[in-house]
Amino acid sequence: MKAEDYSIEYQIELNIKAAIYKDCPYFPCHDLDENNFSCMFCYCPYYDRKSKQGGCLNENGTGEYFYYKKNGKTLKIWDCSNCIYPHTIENVKKIFRAFYSDIEK
Ligand code: SF4
Repeated sequence: MKAEDYSIEYQIELNIKAAIYKDCPYFPCHDLDENNFSCMFCYCPYYDRKSKQGGCLNENGTGEYFYYKKNGKTLKIWDCSNCIYPHTIENVKKIFRAFYSDIEK
């Protein structure tokens, strides 16, 4: 192993290349070129898990609330089906860099 193999950028590249799970029953889940696609953040780190209805903590996300009826009440849940943000290679790199910069503080 060479010294540059320990760099964050090198590790990011390795992880991105390894992260396409073609055996997933939902693959392909989005209409993106496989060369610009990663399953790494299938469970998006921007999903607001503190809210019962969910939500998006990323202003670039393109999800929307899905409304449904239950026991006569109208309820909603955040739906990311149309969002490709955490799947493009450029954004996967941004998320990794943000994560690593946080733990280096
Ligand atoms: S809308 Fe997109 S960016 Fe926002 S939580 Fe959902 S997948 Fe993540």
